[in-house]
Amino acid sequence: MSWENNIHRVVPYVPGEQPTGEGIIKLNTNENPYPPAPGVEKALRDMADDYAIMRKYPDPEAGMLVRALSDYYNVPDESIFVGVGSDDVLAMSFLTFFDSDKPLLFPDITYSFYEVWADLFRIPHKQIPLRGDFTIDPEAYMQMNGGIVIANPNAPTSLYLDIPAIESIIAANLDSVVIVDEAYIDFGGESALPLIKRYDNLLVVRTFSKSRSMAGARVGMAFGSPRLISYLKDVKFSINSYTMSHDVIRMGAASAALSDKEYFEDVVERIIATRTDAAARLRDMGFKVLDSSTNFLFVTHPDHRAGDIYSALKERRIYVRYFNRPRIDDHLRITIGTPEEMESLYAALKEIFDA
Ligand SMILES: *Cc1c(COP(=O)(O)O)cnc(C)c1O
Repeated sequence: MSWENNIHRVVPYVPGEQPTGEGIIKLNTNENPYPPAPGVEKALRDMADDYAIMRKYPDPEAGMLVRALSDYYNVPDESIFVGVGSDDVLAMSFLTFFDSDKPLLFPDITYSFYEVWADLFRIPHKQIPLRGDFTIDPEAYMQMNGGIVIANPNAPTSLYLDIPAIESIIAANLDSVVIVDEAYIDFGGESALPLIKRYDNLLVVRTFSKSRSMAGARVGMAFGSPRLISYLKDVKFSINSYTMSHDVIRMGAASAALSDKEYFEDVVERIIATRTDAAARLRDMGFKVLDSSTNFLFVTHPDHRAGDIYSALKERRIYVRYFNRPRIDDHLRITIGTPEEMESLYAALKEIFDA
């Protein structure tokens, strides 16, 4: 088929399974097991009363959400960009900031979407191996590059890199844009956000999907110097000004989630408590568990193959994430669920190991 010679072929990102049905325990895509803040429901109901607003094009700047973020994070409006989940924010950022012949650098084990976007946008890239213990070696990012992207805490390892190390990478690469993807930062560690005032080459990316229980709403944001943000908007508005913001609904819901700090802190605390308990329980069962700063655990077992555990759990309708990739093909990534869901997991594991 000759037209197929003109196709831009890509190997797509493969998200975790989204099974439907009764009695499934889903610990495979790092969703939050608790509902969004109560105010989110009210915002959605209020918006429903005003459905006629759908007739008009929305505010391309998503001003309502930007102002709420500005107040919450104490960052000026000009330093904020919002998108349809952080995946959209990251894709736009790759397209905007990594237009170099020199390679984009990112860890060999990290969010697998980075490689997909680099391939899609034909960005030369080089994967930097994590150390043997899966930690990031900052020194390895002090080499020629056209940009850097690091998830901190990293996924699926769950490990956090401290701010002095992050800053050393940014400071050593003032001629490149450095993206720090903080999808999990609310579950542990300090944010690099304050550094945007000192480094105009730093972009910090965040999401409502994990800590704010709103993966389905698709709300993500980036913080950076006004110049960086204006370049990002230029690219965004050259594709489709409106994608993220048609969502009056999403915007009202996101603002409502931000305004309930108490609920947010309570949910995060609960997940951290369950995580601490889960790490201990799994270690008791012989698992090696990495020190998590996220809402998931990255584990391996000396006596049972990860792929086998994954399949045996799935037969019992418990979904965890297994990556059949070099270096991590004997590990599982287990999202922290409710205490009840975790009890079901331990019981199932015990059954599998005793069989
Ligand atoms: C979940 C995740 C994202 C994407 O989040 P969305 O905002 O839902 O698009 C980005 N980066 C990392 C590292 C993630 O784990």
